[in-house]
Amino acid sequence: MDSSPNNCINCEEMDLSSGNASLVLADPVAINQSRLGFHLSVFTRLIPKKKGGKVDDVRSNGWLDAMQSSSPPRKRVVKDVASDDSDLVYFSWKLKYPSALKSFDHIINCAHNKKIVIFLDYDGTLSPIVDDPNRAFMSFDMRSAVKSVAKYFPTAIISGRSCDKVYELVGLTELFYAGSHGIDIMFPAKDTMSINHTNYIQSIDKQGKDVNLFQPAREFIPMINEVFRTLVEVTKDIRGALVENHKFCTSVHYRNVDEKNWPIIAQRVYDVLKDYPRLRLTHGRKVLEVRPVIDWDKGKAVKFLLQSLGLSNSDDVLPIYIGDDRTDEDAFTVLREGKHGYGILVSSVPKESKALLSLRDTLEVKDFLKSLVSWKEQMIK
Ligand SMILES: [Mg+2]
Repeated sequence: MDSSPNNCINCEEMDLSSGNASLVLADPVAINQSRLGFHLSVFTRLIPKKKGGKVDDVRSNGWLDAMQSSSPPRKRVVKDVASDDSDLVYFSWKLKYPSALKSFDHIINCAHNKKIVIFLDYDGTLSPIVDDPNRAFMSFDMRSAVKSVAKYFPTAIISGRSCDKVYELVGLTELFYAGSHGIDIMFPAKDTMSINHTNYIQSIDKQGKDVNLFQPAREFIPMINEVFRTLVEVTKDIRGALVENHKFCTSVHYRNVDEKNWPIIAQRVYDVLKDYPRLRLTHGRKVLEVRPVIDWDKGKAVKFLLQSLGLSNSDDVLPIYIGDDRTDEDAFTVLREGKHGYGILVSSVPKESKALLSLRDTLEVKDFLKSLVSWKEQMIK
């Protein structure tokens, strides 16, 4: 079987039909007014919420469907007829999204005389998805692989977490960090090639080093803090719910919430958002993410970082973006539509994506990063 990607950056016949329909709700207020004739959020603040409350809004606007589809069940380990079928489906899906490991020779052929730039999501890409997001740690081997990659290629982490949190988890000073889905970017001042942007802020990191911050949503910080506090309050009686403040966005995790309570948690988040037309909701893996309505996403963060580093010339740069989330699709789209580099989806189950290639899990991500390092070390011998 030929595992080479049939839609590499130089190929004109790229399949653009595989994109996901957007699940972003740009304006929650406009979607569904309360049928009771007054603002539901006021109602829900006055009366303690009970299980089995009004969930029509989240059903009718597709939130529940999105929550279920964004959280595919883990693959069964026990072999039976059904798992054989799912293996077949997975292998046929791999024909459309070939393994980046099996396509490695093809990638390095495309990288000839080009500068490779690496973009990495964190959760589900460098660290396994775990029940407690505060314990989503990278393995020692993965940190070592990322450190080695950064030695040879400019490397950025682009995460939904706050920049500070992902920096704390990764702990490598040589990387660039873009938190809150790319709207909280930090990089050493020495690496800035272009500063022709109005949202640059010069600052000093915790270690006293000069850094440049790019924070196009800075004005939203007080609003996010307020929403975070409200979400903590309205979800405190839902067992397993966890709300996190990522500075420029806030997340409501329902990984540990009984599925029968998903409609309740969705409805409460929905009701809170009705008061904030400048915020929107996106669906991650068992997480509802509340973000500012600004024209910015992980794809724009990729473009911005390439431009800032003087690496936006597509003729001599090969960006590689590895991620597992719906929010990573914006970055995959930028690379695919620009016919510029490779988007690599991390997934052990079939799903539609704008990525060109795939890796099954974090172990394969680590192997891919190590392969890049080995190849580079061979080249410079
Ligand atoms: Mg992820």
